[in-house]
Parts: sequence; C-alpha cells; structure tokens
Amino acid sequence: MPPGRHKITRRSPLPDRSLKRRFQQRLLKWYAAHGRDLPWRNTSNPYHILVSEVMLQQTQVDRVIPKYHEFLDRYPSFEDLAEAPVKEVKNTWYPLGYNIRPLRLHSIACETVARYDGKLPRGAEDLLSFKGIGRYTAGAIRSFAFNEDAPILDTNVMRVLHRIFIAKGDPKTQKARLWELSEALIPPGKGYDFNQALMDFGAMSCTARNPSCRPCPMKSICKTYPFKAKRAGRV
Ligand code: SF4
Repeated sequence: MPPGRHKITRRSPLPDRSLKRRFQQRLLKWYAAHGRDLPWRNTSNPYHILVSEVMLQQTQVDRVIPKYHEFLDRYPSFEDLAEAPVKEVKNTWYPLGYNIRPLRLHSIACETVARYDGKLPRGAEDLLSFKGIGRYTAGAIRSFAFNEDAPILDTNVMRVLHRIFIAKGDPKTQKARLWELSEALIPPGKGYDFNQALMDFGAMSCTARNPSCRPCPMKSICKTYPFKAKRAGRV
C-alpha cells in the first residue's frame, strides 16, 4: 500500500495498532521538541485549567496569557469568582470578547460552590451536567487537571485527525468518527501530553491554511500529504 494510503473505512474507522503506534510516537517526539510552554501547563488546578480553556475558545493564545493571569489574580478560586458581581466579571473579561464566556464561567463557579463544595468534579457525566461545559471542555479538564486519558476534539485536533486519517469529506460532518479516533489514539497513561501535543501540532504545524507538510513527521502516514488547499476540508 503506498505511503499515507492506510486502510480506514466507514465500517472500520480506527487505524491498526502499527499505524497508531507510529502516529503516537511521532507526535510525542514532535511535541518534546516543539511544544509550547504555556502558563496553564504549569498547573493541575482544575479551576485554572477551566479558566484557560474557556478563554482559549475563539481567542488566540497570546491574547489569552495576560488576561489569564489578571483574571486569576482577581478571582483566585471558584468561591471568589462565585461571590463577584456578574457585571464586574464581565468588565474584568474585557477585551477578550465573545461575552457569553464570563457569564458561563461565573455560573459554573456558582454551581461548583453550591453542589461540589468549591471543587470541580472529575467524572465526565458530572462535568457535562454543568451548563457551559461541553464534551471538549470536559475532556480537557479530565485530561489536563485530573490526568485521565480522556479524548478532546477542538478545531485544531479535528483538522489534524481528519487530514491524516480520513482526508475525504467535510470534517464538521464527521465529528462522531473524529471523537472515536481521538479516543482510540491516546497512548495509555499519556493522555495529558498526547492531547497537548495534538493541539500544538494543529496550531503550529498542521495549520488551517499553510501546513508545514515538507518537514512534517506525519507525511508518510498522512492521507492529505501533500496538502492542497482546494481539495482539503475546511477547518
Ligand atoms: S503532512 Fe501536511 S497535512 Fe499531513 S499532517 Fe503533516 S502538515 Fe498536516
């Protein structure tokens, strides 16, 4: 079979063990050399992880970093955030935009204090029961705060997995399959690094418009290599 033309069909969507291992090893090696040092990677505090994840929705990392520090200085815990007036929280959030996010964070803080004594639960079902915590955020909290092998699927991860393992069709209509891939590919016990690596690889190497295909460690297994903008699904 030619490079990058591994078998993956609708009935059997998951790559075989050898392909999985090659992908995992190459991604983790790439991450060891190129991974970003971000402030929320130096903590396992679930509140800090949640704040970073909510801020990173729709906002670039370099804009999030100063606001992340400012927000946590002002509201160091779920209790502090829950007690703060919503208007003040919205003002503190400025100018990040997409202003439903501080309202969601505030509501999650109130619920965490009321139902869980100020400590975010670690179970997927409990997390998903919060208004404002969806499947991606629940996976990120379980993975980055509680070190569990929980899958994530944001825009970057969706793009990377679709390009390497599927290539055809619109990634946005294949979310169930991509979630399945994201879960199946995690090397046991390494969910934290693997998920961070996937996000960095999508943000820095396999980017939406100009992916770095030539030096890419995935090119021999990538179904989209070499990337051509016109034929690729848009994510
Ligand atoms: S070869 Fe190109 S399209 Fe494939 S994973 Fe690497 S950067 Fe992305």
